[in-house]
Amino acid sequence: MSSIQTKQTDVILIGAGIMSATLGSLLKELVPDWDIKVFEKLESAGEESSNEWNNAGTGHAALCELNYTTEKADGTVDISKAIQINEQFQLSMQFWSYLVESKLIQNPQDFIMPIPHMSMVLGDQNVKFLKKRFDALSNNPLFAGMEYSDNPAKLAEWIPLILKDRPANEPIAATKIDSGTDVNFGALTRMLFDHLKSKKVEINYNHSVNKVKRTNDGQWELKVRNASGIVETHRAKFVFVGGGGGSLHLLQKSGIPEGKHIGGFPVSGLFMVCNKPEIVEQHHAKVYGKAKVGAPPMSVPHLDTRFIDNKKSLLFGPFAGFSPKFLKNGSMFDLITSVKPDNLVTMLSAGAKNMSLTKYLIEQVMLSKEKRVEELREFIPTAKVEDWDLVVAGQRVQVIKDTPAGKGTLQFGTEVISAADGSIAALLGASPGASTAVHVMLEVLNKCFPQHMKAWEPKIKEMIPSYGKSLMENPELLKEIHASTAQTLGLSQNQPLEVAQH
Ligand SMILES: Cc1cc2nc3c(=O)[nH]c(=O)nc-3n(C[C@H](O)[C@H](O)[C@H](O)COP(=O)(O)OP(=O)(O)OC[C@H]3O[C@@H](n4cnc5c(N)ncnc54)[C@H](O)[C@@H]3O)c2cc1C
Repeated sequence: MSSIQTKQTDVILIGAGIMSATLGSLLKELVPDWDIKVFEKLESAGEESSNEWNNAGTGHAALCELNYTTEKADGTVDISKAIQINEQFQLSMQFWSYLVESKLIQNPQDFIMPIPHMSMVLGDQNVKFLKKRFDALSNNPLFAGMEYSDNPAKLAEWIPLILKDRPANEPIAATKIDSGTDVNFGALTRMLFDHLKSKKVEINYNHSVNKVKRTNDGQWELKVRNASGIVETHRAKFVFVGGGGGSLHLLQKSGIPEGKHIGGFPVSGLFMVCNKPEIVEQHHAKVYGKAKVGAPPMSVPHLDTRFIDNKKSLLFGPFAGFSPKFLKNGSMFDLITSVKPDNLVTMLSAGAKNMSLTKYLIEQVMLSKEKRVEELREFIPTAKVEDWDLVVAGQRVQVIKDTPAGKGTLQFGTEVISAADGSIAALLGASPGASTAVHVMLEVLNKCFPQHMKAWEPKIKEMIPSYGKSLMENPELLKEIHASTAQTLGLSQNQPLEVAQH
């Protein structure tokens, strides 16, 4: 096997998903003269979880996701997580607006569209919970404009397809907020990589990173297999492991102590898609329901209007499932090869604790299309099997680690793992995901470049005016930011769109 030695760079980004795209774009603005190289094993950007068909495209701002607000033992609703996620989403909106205003990316309607975000529940208990949640959120400036109704006539105006042919005596309620978004993260990722290319970032597709090793002088050496099967050697002062589900293996190869005792558990996703114009036209919202008992938080069912390639379609799901692959284009050995002596006990403990989750996932895999449509009928009572197609979405690798709650605890958030000297960072986990990419990449900068943050702060504030501030506590600034991002990203007006015809 031949091998090629190449020169060293300042920064290497592994993986061409939304996370590397965001970090690269931030760095190019902060330190334009740093050399950046990207290695992506597939043939183009945004092909794994960031692809538009591999995720639900919800701009997660906690406007509709019931799993971000929990009922406490005293019956009150805890909204702290919802506030945190909303604040994080505002950072993304500001950075995207900055990129559009600076003409670094164009045509925001190709990646973000306004769509009402709704929560919908059935049954007396759930209706009571939703009302309490509404009361807790609606006085908060971050959730201004949220409406609540348990009146079927009003709900039929908001969600006609969901109300059609529903039993008249069924308790039902919903909240609605018009400032929600549908984000095409695949399109955004591709736009950002086009922008990076124009700024002379070297982007290498069909290049798979196989080894990550620290050199004696504290830098990082990567072995990268190129499209011809030749192994290239690349060096960098800083490496970001943005390999999505592939990050855990690369982190383990780096050998940094911070990467020990961590495991990953893959959860796959499946959606049902409807492209029939007469059905698609009857729904205009992202409607999130309540997760079934025993279901993991990322499998909260929702019925969404999606805007992909200037076309509208409906998406329902996700149905969770189990596959040992860590990436959609991964290997059946991913799970087993991620078990190492240092995380064996962690993984075994997680396995023992999560038997019911594994059982749930296996049951989900076994569901027939008819059974899936039965679940859809909780949203659309008139749904017909022949109107809906199944689409396999991306893999989410949930982090397993030892926490004060015990060994092998399954985590549902994202985690930035970095070396003590800040020379390498990896992103693990998948929720709330792409929507909070800017917040997560700012965390990478903070952890890995603390010595530069003071000098970078004015530029960060130019790009993200609310950086370092709580918008909830600055309602005037929040109003300004809402107005300016809506204007720049074209979210104030609804453009008519074609319905997808596949
Ligand atoms: C079913 C589902 C629904 C979701 N819904 C939403 C949603 O509604 N809203 C939201 O905000 N988020 C959502 N997410 C999460 C979101 O999609 C992810 O958090 C986000 O896309 C992750 O981006 P990434 O750049 O880390 O990873 P990815 O997009 O997966 O990119 C990683 C890249 O690294 C490459 N790679 C991996 N290993 C190597 C290697 N060794 N060498 C070179 N390249 C490598 C891969 O090929 C891939 O292109 C969802 C995810 C799933 C699976």
